[in-house]
Amino acid sequence: MRTLRRKSPTTVVVAALAALSLAACGEAGSGGDGGGGDTEVEVAENAAEDFDEGTRMRELAEAGNITIGVKYDQPGIGFKGATDDIPVGFDPEMGKILAGSLGIAVDDITWKETISDNREPFLQSGEVDLVIASYSINDERRAVVGQAGPYYVTGQQLLVPTDSDISTLEDIKGTEVCSVTGSTSLENIEAEGGKARGFDTYSECVDQVLGGTVDAMTTDGAILLGYAAEHPDELKVVVEPFSEERYGVGYSKDFPEMCEWISSTIEQSYEDGSWEEAFKATLGQSGVDTPEQPELDPCQ
Ligand code: GLU
Repeated sequence: MRTLRRKSPTTVVVAALAALSLAACGEAGSGGDGGGGDTEVEVAENAAEDFDEGTRMRELAEAGNITIGVKYDQPGIGFKGATDDIPVGFDPEMGKILAGSLGIAVDDITWKETISDNREPFLQSGEVDLVIASYSINDERRAVVGQAGPYYVTGQQLLVPTDSDISTLEDIKGTEVCSVTGSTSLENIEAEGGKARGFDTYSECVDQVLGGTVDAMTTDGAILLGYAAEHPDELKVVVEPFSEERYGVGYSKDFPEMCEWISSTIEQSYEDGSWEEAFKATLGQSGVDTPEQPELDPCQ
């Protein structure tokens, strides 16, 4: 495979919608602005020539479209309000950067909502080409799908009502804690002794905390901060991170060549500033500090 050239002289800049415009105008589900918006992405010209014949990247570049699975209900990470045209958040931004390296403009990306439990099935069935959906890399998942990255590292915490007595991990023993089926969070909290209750989506779980039917919600701090920012008077994030969640880009094991492409495009986004710009426009808006750029795993 030829080396990927994203910053070539033929690269053109295509302006996406103005930063934050969608988020500012859109209605945002449970009340917030979705935690961040659109940035401009580079779209490579004649990108198909950058990839060898027979590779999935070449096929996608020639087809001129790609289907990407993202979350629709996680402010700052992946969010689509009722009147939004496209999802916004750090994960969709990474999707736009990857698509751009294939010469695919934002308008030619098909976004598909994924929930935690259908990420592997969607990749295995070809329903989506990529999953970029707060998708922690782990061995269990890597046994059935490819995961390149990490492009972001966070850790699991707790979201509780502002007047809650829960302030340490010990406090959750015997309490009802919700999370999402198919997530690492649900498995981890069971191991910590909470009475785990699994829902399909994090927005359902947040509603349980707001309604007082569970004592706490748990998942990655980055996700929880997005919800806390939407309900600052009602919710707060507590306890130090008690797991390490390394977000990767999921792809099908039928196309192992995608790993090098995804990894080199993420590397390039570190170098050209687009990763940082994407972060600041999205998760950064939820109050998350811009972290170190994680070192990428080698492709097998
Ligand atoms: N990052 C964790 C996971 O992949 C929790 C967040 C999620 O469910 O998307 O399971």
